[in-house]
Amino acid sequence: MRMTVLASGSKGNATVVASERTRVLVDAGLSCRELLRRMALANEDPTALDAILITHEHSDHVSGLSVLARKLHIPVYFTEPTHRAWVRQMTPHTTMTYAKWLERVQKEKEARAELAAESSATEMNAPSVSASSLRVGGGATELDLAAAAEPEPDETTAIKRDPTFLPAVEYFQPGTSFSIGDLTVAPFTTPHDAADPCGFVFHSAAESIRMAIATDLGYIPPNVKAALKRIDCLLLESNHDLEMLKDGPYPWAVKQRVLSRVGHLSNDATAQFLARDYDGAAAYIVLGHLSEANNAPELAQLAAEQALSERGSLIGNRVLLAQQSDPLTPICL
Ligand SMILES: [Zn+2]
Ligand SMILES: [Zn+2]
Repeated sequence: MRMTVLASGSKGNATVVASERTRVLVDAGLSCRELLRRMALANEDPTALDAILITHEHSDHVSGLSVLARKLHIPVYFTEPTHRAWVRQMTPHTTMTYAKWLERVQKEKEARAELAAESSATEMNAPSVSASSLRVGGGATELDLAAAAEPEPDETTAIKRDPTFLPAVEYFQPGTSFSIGDLTVAPFTTPHDAADPCGFVFHSAAESIRMAIATDLGYIPPNVKAALKRIDCLLLESNHDLEMLKDGPYPWAVKQRVLSRVGHLSNDATAQFLARDYDGAAAYIVLGHLSEANNAPELAQLAAEQALSERGSLIGNRVLLAQQSDPLTPICL
C-alpha cells in the first residue's frame, strides 16, 4: 500500500491512499490546479484515482472538490450530513429544510442519470430523446428542462454550472466499513466542529497493511483510540503548541475554538496518546495539520519522539512531518 500526503494544514489537506488495484484521494482542500500539480510532483497519476473521500466540509478539506471530481469523472464519498453541509455552504443564500434537501438530491440523481444517458447516446451516435423530467437548481430558481425533447447543449452546461453538481455521490456511515475495489475503508467519528466529521482506516485484504488518517480532532476519544490499533502508517494531527497558541496572534475566540474538545489536537495531546494509548505498531507516524502560526515543526516532532522514546517504541517508529506547501515522498509498505 501507499500513502502520499499532498498537503496538510489549515490552508489545505489532501492525501492519496493506494492499494494494489485501487487509488483514492482523501480530501481535496487545494484548488484543482494545485492538486494536479502536486500529484505530478509526487508521481501520482490523477487519472488513476477511483474516488474522492471527504472527512468533513471545512474549506481546507473541500476547496477543490467539485472541480476535481468533475474533471476526473469520479465519485465522491461523504456521510449524508457532510454532503448536506457542503451543499449548504456552496449555496449560502438558501435556507434548506430536510425535505427540500431530499428533493434536491433526487433531482441531482436524475440529472446525473440524464447526463449519463445522453453521453452514452452520443457515443452510440443515436438521437437522444428524453421523456423524463430533468430539473436543476433549487427553490424558486427551479428550472424545468423537460420540455425540450432534443437536449440543448446548455442543459448540460446548466447542470455543470451548479457548483454542487458532482459526477456521482456515495454515502457512508461512520462505524460501518465499505469497499472501493480491493480497498476496505473503515470510517470512524471524530470530535470536531463540523456536521459529521470522520477519520479513516484503510486496508487491502491482499496486503494486510493498514493505514489511517486522523486529523481535525479536539481530543482522542475511546472510539478513535480503538480505531487506531494495528496501524502500519498513521497520519495523526499535531496541530499546535499550547504556549505558542496562548501567546500567538489568534483572537481569543479562535484560540478557544482550537483548544476546545471539538477543535484541534495539541502537540501535548498527541504525545499523550503516543505515550499512553498507542500500540507502537506503526512503521511510520506522520504528524499532520500543523499550524503555521501556532506550532514549529521541531516542537511537534520533539514531543512525539519523546513520547515514543519513553516507551522504547521509537526505534520501530519513524516520525515524519507532513507539509503544507509541498507533497511528502510517497510512503510505500
Ligand atoms: Zn482541517
Ligand atoms: Zn476542520
